[in-house]
Amino acid sequence: MRRSDEILIVGGGLAGSEAAWQLAQRGYSVCLVEMRPVATTPAHQTDMMGELVCSNSLGADNLTSPAGILKGELRYLNSLIMEAADHSSVPAGKALAVDRNVFAGYITKKLSGHPQIRIERREITELPEEPAIIATGPLTSPIFAERLRQVTGQEYFSFFDAIAPVVFYDTIDMNKAYQGGRYGQQADYINCPMNEEEYIKFCQALLTAEQAPRHEFEKDVRYFEGCLPVEVIASRGIDTLRFGPLRPVGLPNPSTGAEPYAVVQLRQDNADGTLFNLVGFQTSLKWGEQNRVFRMIPGLENAEFARYGVMHRNIYVNAPKVLDGSLRLRGSKALFLAGQITGVEGYLESTAMGLVAGLHVAFCAAGLQIPLWPKETAIGSLLRYLAETDPKVFHPMNVNLGIFPSLDVKIRPKSLRCQKVGERALRALEEFDKNCLK
Ligand SMILES: Cc1cc2nc3c(=O)[nH]c(=O)nc-3n(C[C@H](O)[C@H](O)[C@H](O)COP(=O)(O)OP(=O)(O)OC[C@H]3O[C@@H](n4cnc5c(N)ncnc54)[C@H](O)[C@@H]3O)c2cc1C
Repeated sequence: MRRSDEILIVGGGLAGSEAAWQLAQRGYSVCLVEMRPVATTPAHQTDMMGELVCSNSLGADNLTSPAGILKGELRYLNSLIMEAADHSSVPAGKALAVDRNVFAGYITKKLSGHPQIRIERREITELPEEPAIIATGPLTSPIFAERLRQVTGQEYFSFFDAIAPVVFYDTIDMNKAYQGGRYGQQADYINCPMNEEEYIKFCQALLTAEQAPRHEFEKDVRYFEGCLPVEVIASRGIDTLRFGPLRPVGLPNPSTGAEPYAVVQLRQDNADGTLFNLVGFQTSLKWGEQNRVFRMIPGLENAEFARYGVMHRNIYVNAPKVLDGSLRLRGSKALFLAGQITGVEGYLESTAMGLVAGLHVAFCAAGLQIPLWPKETAIGSLLRYLAETDPKVFHPMNVNLGIFPSLDVKIRPKSLRCQKVGERALRALEEFDKNCLK
């Protein structure tokens, strides 16, 4: 059982392990509760902390990519997960890939050998007393997930991701696309018009494109009728898309004055307006196929994707509604969420949200105010996404250039732009560390 001087962390995955480490290194006593091997998830296979459930790649590892910027920040903040990754790395070109057993073994050893950390193996089924961190991940055990759903409210708790692809605004060809809402209302949409020939070719490409494989435990997941993958809608008849998400009525093309045969609409995806998602385009197609097929849409021929569409099992909260901007559950004093369940997506994004939750609990425990992370950093940008996105369109997000504030000057190519964003991020983090974290 948890001692009164301990901070409880539920879940010993990437986020929970990182949070435990950050707290313990600052002298706090931690009780880390992991349900494996007493109970397990459909994807985990070992009882180790920080187990990677799928790929052994943690993505690109230099400042010319957003994932590299996040790694730089995590290393700067003495992340245990990054230490384990560097210790267990295997050759993978410009990416950082790891031997998954060495990686998880390293994390497990470090945590179990730490004098401030006590590990318990049991499933948590009730909301823990504060101070605590919930880091139970995208495959949170069913009983606890139900408990969380009751606390957050049904409509703000998701069991499944159905995400449409997101593109960078400045890669949309606005000579072909046009701004405007249906029947002249809400001009916030970008419309990509198709003629009959383009539409038919596009539908055929959708129907023959390769789909991403599903995990065994996801095979029985049935789609909601209101949220069908775009390729499934296309398979229901040649006109189904044209009477569904690609409906052209009320959207005349200003250059011809006529209604196109079909229209793909894009909606703003972040507060800064640098990202737009393809409305109704949730999809299970492989990423390479999305790149090929969705670039057939007029105006998107050269579009760059900030993230691809996915449909998979994933438990997460509607962060802008449920959390207070610092990963704390609204209405609580010191009950934080961490990891993928907060609405970020990816191994290192989850790790980062574990690190942040750990530091924020420490601030609470010390009776200090939680500082605001600089928006120039990858971590600050992810937090801002979780706090400021319109709850109606909120969906999980990975780290990408579109969530960072733009640079004052336009820089091409993208890798150089990213490097400048990365250098700015690390400068801001150093300053933040000196003024707020030390
Ligand atoms: C099948 C699948 C594949 C993925 N593949 C990738 C990928 O290739 N690359 C990528 O970047 N991201 C991937 N992700 C997304 C995500 O990055 C990982 O799931 C990541 O592990 C999330 O970290 P986390 O700490 O939030 O959760 P986890 O690492 O899953 O940790 C949560 C921990 O909580 C424990 N737990 C759950 N419920 C309870 C409870 N009630 N009581 C006690 N303990 C509990 C679990 O056993 C687990 O150890 C994948 C996700 C899934 C579901």
